[in-house]
Amino acid sequence: MDKYFVIGHPVKHSLSPEIHKMFAAQFDIEMSYETRDFEPGGFIEGMAVLRREDSPKGANVTHPFKMDAYQYCDEVTPRARKCEAANTLIFDGNRVLGDTTDGKGFVNDVTQRCGASLTGARVLILGAGGAGRGLAAALQEEGCARIYIANRTPERAHSAGAALGCASGSFVDLISEKFDIIVNATSAAFSGAAPAVPNCVFSECSLAVDLTYAALPTPFMQLAKESGAVRVEDGLGMLVAQAAESFALWTGRMPDTKPVYEKLRAAFDASVAL
Ligand code: NAP
Repeated sequence: MDKYFVIGHPVKHSLSPEIHKMFAAQFDIEMSYETRDFEPGGFIEGMAVLRREDSPKGANVTHPFKMDAYQYCDEVTPRARKCEAANTLIFDGNRVLGDTTDGKGFVNDVTQRCGASLTGARVLILGAGGAGRGLAAALQEEGCARIYIANRTPERAHSAGAALGCASGSFVDLISEKFDIIVNATSAAFSGAAPAVPNCVFSECSLAVDLTYAALPTPFMQLAKESGAVRVEDGLGMLVAQAAESFALWTGRMPDTKPVYEKLRAAFDASVAL
């Protein structure tokens, strides 16, 4: 049976094994998909053990190893090179190919499940880490009118903006800016907060998406709603959509994300009702 893994730290609460199990069931594919927790700073050592003991066919890579994974690969796709991060590894004999499906997953979720149009949209990305850069790179293919990267540390926003050809600035610089779609690609939720952006930035926002997902609205979703965003979403849809892209790279089959998203969302809703 082909073996797949998700590598991260911490990773034991990852939904990826459940998602890929549901995808595999759609095609009657037999595969195993397990979590592997590597010590921070121990990506290369962890990979050596994993490859020696488990001969993986593929792996997803999550926080905090996406950049380590990018550097580890023998070959990377152009989109992975653009954001210097890999979330999907394909093992081919002794060689490892790296790709990133985060950006495509985001685009698919926003356009297909949320029904939003990116063509001509003014899009603000909060965060200049691996996720923010991946989104910016994918959005460049979608005909957006404007893509703006804002970050807590403005230097990182400027360096991402220069590398990707997007506008960039600090959160304070957003005071006079308006956007149709605003995405929170920061990890501010880990500290129970929303990124410190001015409320007025949401005044013309039709869709605000937090890449973080949870059973209850996140601090960013609450801020966006209170500040005038018409629709707010969390990152569960993107999680399923980026997983589908990885699954297709490994198996050549594109799964149906809708029933998988609905099952996970229902489980979140049920956990709140308890
Ligand atoms: P990362 O590379 O570590 O980058 C973290 C980003 O968050 C940086 O821009 C950092 O700004 C910013 N940040 C951290 N704490 C902040 C705070 N208190 N206020 C404002 N900004 C803050 O992480 P990543 O891989 O890009 O992931 C970012 C988030 O997206 C994570 O929450 C991750 O779980 C989520 N994500 C979700 C999906 C999905 O499928 N739903 C996929 C990928 C990522 P500085 O540069 O100033 O430190």
